[in-house]
Amino acid sequence: MLQDLQNWQVEGTYSPWRTPGRIGLSVVVPCYNEAPVIDALMARLEPICEAVRPGDYEIVLVNDGSSDATWSLIEAHAARSPHIVGVDLARNHGHQLALTCGLQVCRGDLVMAIDADLQDPPELLPEMIRLIEAGADVVYGQRVARAGETLFKKASAAAFYRLLEKLIDIRIPRDTGDFRLMTRPVVDALNAMPERFRFVRGMVGWVGFRQVALPYRRDARFAGETHYPLRKMLALAFDAVTSFSVKPLRLASLCGGLSGLAGFVMLGWVLSVWLRSGTVHGWTSMIGVVLILGSLQLLVLGVFGEYLGRMYIETKGRPMYIVREVRRGDPQ
Ligand code: UDP
Ligand code: MG
Repeated sequence: MLQDLQNWQVEGTYSPWRTPGRIGLSVVVPCYNEAPVIDALMARLEPICEAVRPGDYEIVLVNDGSSDATWSLIEAHAARSPHIVGVDLARNHGHQLALTCGLQVCRGDLVMAIDADLQDPPELLPEMIRLIEAGADVVYGQRVARAGETLFKKASAAAFYRLLEKLIDIRIPRDTGDFRLMTRPVVDALNAMPERFRFVRGMVGWVGFRQVALPYRRDARFAGETHYPLRKMLALAFDAVTSFSVKPLRLASLCGGLSGLAGFVMLGWVLSVWLRSGTVHGWTSMIGVVLILGSLQLLVLGVFGEYLGRMYIETKGRPMYIVREVRRGDPQ
């Protein structure tokens, strides 16, 4: 503790929890087929890191099984600078796991997570650090505008965050992504969470601490195109909901109650028709009811299946990701 305080005083930077082997700042960047942007990213990121933590930072580039030249570019940067760490995953594990890997590998007292595609401006780092120094533990970027994204992407993102708010009990701020600066205790708390289905921004909301928003304009991608097609967005939404809420499991009770109610209403109607005109014809309505009930049951079974499948995969206890190689410019 004394050592920590001395470190703080000597270096004059905000790192009261500094432990040996730690450094001032880590920037974690998951990269999947980002060859066209890596050089531009480094050109913007390095001077900013150098300005806020001169010589006391690392940039962790996690290659998430890219099929283009991303890894060779990362290797070249790691060979050039002792501040660049390249991590090569054995295959594509997805954005959230690549980010998780970076958070587990990095050594910074402060850790910034940022996408490779320069949609989130790294120039906000000094302002984020200022907010941390003023007492926050997490500073998350909150998008007030999103340039260069399709109407569908904007609308689906808006619908997703609002649905999530209804379904889950913890607070996940609206319109945030994974662009944020966190202190070491927050990162340690995240790293202590063992789940494989990770929705990192939700997990950050779950751990608590003092969280502050920093509004910003989201730029268009610098180059390349999004790796979040509808299929991956839906998968992320499922992970988000199933990781943080069991409300969908109550769907069965809700459907049961509603269809029971509908049944009684219909019985009343059938009875009144029968009293007035005798037999009630009804092949169409019967088939309708059978099909609707059948589909409701399958839907509920599907929701159960989602949870069950996730439990099955979690119980296998496999590692979240496999690292093929780590390249550190710095041999220490
Ligand atoms: N990414 C990744 N693995 C994947 C998909 C994406 O590491 O399987 C990275 C990608 O390189 C980028 C970040 O995750 O740094 C966000 O991806 P993208 O920009 O495609 O998503 P969007 O901004 O369109 O939501
Ligand atoms: Mg992007």
